[in-house]
Amino acid sequence: MARANPNAHPYILHPSSLFAILHLLMRTYVDTYRHQGLRKKLVAILREKGITDEKVLDAINLIPRHFFLDTAFDDIAYQDRAFPIAQDQTISQPYTVAYQTELLRVHPHEKILEIGTGSSYQSCVLAQMGARVFTIERQRLLFDFIKTFSFISRYRNIKFFYGDGYEGLPTFGPFDKIIVTAAAPHIPDRLVEQLCIGGTMVIPVGEKGLQRMLRLTKNHSGIIDFEEFDNFSFVPMLGGKKN
Ligand code: SAH
Repeated sequence: MARANPNAHPYILHPSSLFAILHLLMRTYVDTYRHQGLRKKLVAILREKGITDEKVLDAINLIPRHFFLDTAFDDIAYQDRAFPIAQDQTISQPYTVAYQTELLRVHPHEKILEIGTGSSYQSCVLAQMGARVFTIERQRLLFDFIKTFSFISRYRNIKFFYGDGYEGLPTFGPFDKIIVTAAAPHIPDRLVEQLCIGGTMVIPVGEKGLQRMLRLTKNHSGIIDFEEFDNFSFVPMLGGKKN
């Protein structure tokens, strides 16, 4: 867990946040046959769109995405689209999650750093594939929400941190893989430093509205090889932590 920052302002919970957390605590999670059927259809759509890694598709087939959304979205949770979560953030579109995960070429027991926990759906996909996941979120409220989310206790291989993803997690690195799930205006040096030799980073780089998905590989001489993929639109990767 993130260490307490002695200089931080005392964290005061807004009444509406308190209500949202109580609401989540009281929520029960049920994965019906109907949800499972909708998930199978979603997996078929992802296959049609070009996702081929069966381990990625299996993970998406197993994880109840509707648990990560407000119950109001229960009926549409398996459409291939992004949805709003708390704090003006989004749970990424399943295609985007599948695309980034496929590019990452995940293997069991790898150490993976994720920037932008958000709903924790992407973290669960990586954990379901057997990776050891270290995920950072800069928004205190989203970080706190996760602690109330009972489903997550299924994945002992995810560690959650409250912090600034631009800094990475130097004390826990180096990482086999790094995945950035917010739009980075540039490639953060600290993250490149925390990548193993032979390690891979998948990161959307560009300005607001449109970013190019990049895959960086640190080769055996420590040189970074770049590959470019499709364009996407992520919420921005912002500097600093937010209370
Ligand atoms: N992986 C998430 C997608 C969340 S959207 C999911 O599966 O739901 C991107 C997230 O990145 C947001 O929650 C946002 O608050 C967070 N974020 C943006 N800049 C960040 C930074 N510098 N460090 C850590 N998290 C950041």
